[in-house]
Amino acid sequence: MESHINSYITLVATSAVLNVFLCLYTYIRRAEIPSSKIFILYTAALSVYTFGYAIELASSTLEQMKFWTTVEYIGMPFSASLGLLLMIQYTGRTLSKKWTATLFVIPSITLFMVATNDFHHLFYKRVWLREDSSVPLMDIAIGQWYVVHGAFTFSCLLCACLILIGQWRHTKKMYRRQLLTLITSQIIPMVAAFVYLLGLTPGGMDPVPVLMCITSAMYIWAILSSRLLTIVPIAKDSIFESMREGVIVLDSSNRLVDYNKSLRNMLPELDLSMVGQYLNDIWLSLAGETFPVEYGREGLQTDLYWQLNGETVCYQVRTSYVYNKEGQAVGTLIMLIDITEQRFLQEQLKQLAYFDGLTKIYNRTQFLLRGREILSDAQLNLRPAAFILFDIDHFKRINDTYGHDVGDQAIIHVVSVCNRFLNSEMLFARYGGEEFVIAVPHASLQDGEQLAEKLRVALLNDPLDVQGTRIPLTSSFGVAQYNGGSDSLESLLRDADTALYESKRNGRNTVFAHAVSLG
Ligand code: GH3
Ligand code: MG
Ligand code: MG
Repeated sequence: MESHINSYITLVATSAVLNVFLCLYTYIRRAEIPSSKIFILYTAALSVYTFGYAIELASSTLEQMKFWTTVEYIGMPFSASLGLLLMIQYTGRTLSKKWTATLFVIPSITLFMVATNDFHHLFYKRVWLREDSSVPLMDIAIGQWYVVHGAFTFSCLLCACLILIGQWRHTKKMYRRQLLTLITSQIIPMVAAFVYLLGLTPGGMDPVPVLMCITSAMYIWAILSSRLLTIVPIAKDSIFESMREGVIVLDSSNRLVDYNKSLRNMLPELDLSMVGQYLNDIWLSLAGETFPVEYGREGLQTDLYWQLNGETVCYQVRTSYVYNKEGQAVGTLIMLIDITEQRFLQEQLKQLAYFDGLTKIYNRTQFLLRGREILSDAQLNLRPAAFILFDIDHFKRINDTYGHDVGDQAIIHVVSVCNRFLNSEMLFARYGGEEFVIAVPHASLQDGEQLAEKLRVALLNDPLDVQGTRIPLTSSFGVAQYNGGSDSLESLLRDADTALYESKRNGRNTVFAHAVSLG
């Protein structure tokens, strides 16, 4: 029996040493281990627990044993909460401060209960030295709080285990071995505690502290072999998967290595079996063309339009190299950012900035900008250009008689009638309320007058029809011409306005040309 106890103590002490080693290892490398704080606390708690237990086993008096039991409980109940927290972080989840604090309530009460058990006997009903043993060993009769503590510890292990199992489906093959190791490390103490509570362990020994040695060894294996915690792959993986941007990872020969969920949504036909194929081949089979953006360069930004579920979507494509530790480029990362909405808003802003809201033709500002271009083109090529300004006659009456809405309809009607006679080379804009302007490149004054006359007649012959009521509309026109020299757009428009004024003065519904009015 004594030799059994001694080897048992040795195992527990080994477990304690391993935990201290893990704790120190994590502490030294804490900068590169993201969840290091919790892992350090977790292994420290396990160290205190296992060391306390080893010394308890080696103690010779009941008082000493009770003291070291209290020391054990400084670590053990907290290790359960910390273990659960660790798995929560490992799987990329977060717990609020409030919930984190709640996890430590029962362990704190447990520690208090153990330390003060002599006064209330709620944790151990009774403790005594075993008589059937050749070496002094403590035996206990469990109290009410012991059950609470046991249930809590078991629940923590079970929760951690379930979280890890839940992660299985979302974990890439290469990380599954690591995940399996962690799941096993949670199941072992759980099963052991269960067997112990059923009284099935040899000599009534608690196997958990000994098995913590195996659990710790598994952690060490996971850390050293598959770099557990140093890269927190699953947490990173869930970030990669939950990114809104579609991500494609290519190796150095532009073969597909990895892609995330957003990309799968963008390209529903993409299949895992395509991993390893050249990106251009994949694109060719999916879209009938090679990847439309050159991706062999770093820092590239291009817009890419394509059809998704019958709608045109726009993605901004950004590329960057993936470097290894030695700084060599080992692949390319292509990020696709959905900017469809942004482009749509830009288009809307452009509409608002360039075009008149009512008639959808250019506004005055755009006319002045584009009109200047027509003028400088005429100056450069020694060609004429005509400028026509016109204003609806007695428009106030229409507003007053039929209301503002009909007034609006009249303005739209005038534009649509005029549009029939204008081509894409001509610049047509709403100059003011019911005043319009047309710049006609390469047109002489006569050409301008002829066009104005056509418009005047068309408007005269095409009254506005409002639910059967025909409202006659006429307009007065003023035409000016650029014919060499250094006339500015403003002075040409002033000329046209003078001619328009002449039209109004001469009874309206007429066309006047600036040269004519001067002459
Ligand atoms: P004239 O023949 O001398 O041009 O007479 P007029 O009544 O057309 O006079 P004027 O050009 O000064 O009047 C323009 C009127 O057009 C004044 C304004 O209330 C109205 N107006 C300006 N913009 C709009 C608009 O967007 N919608 C409507 N319904 N009316 C407008
Ligand atoms: Mg008017
Ligand atoms: Mg007017």
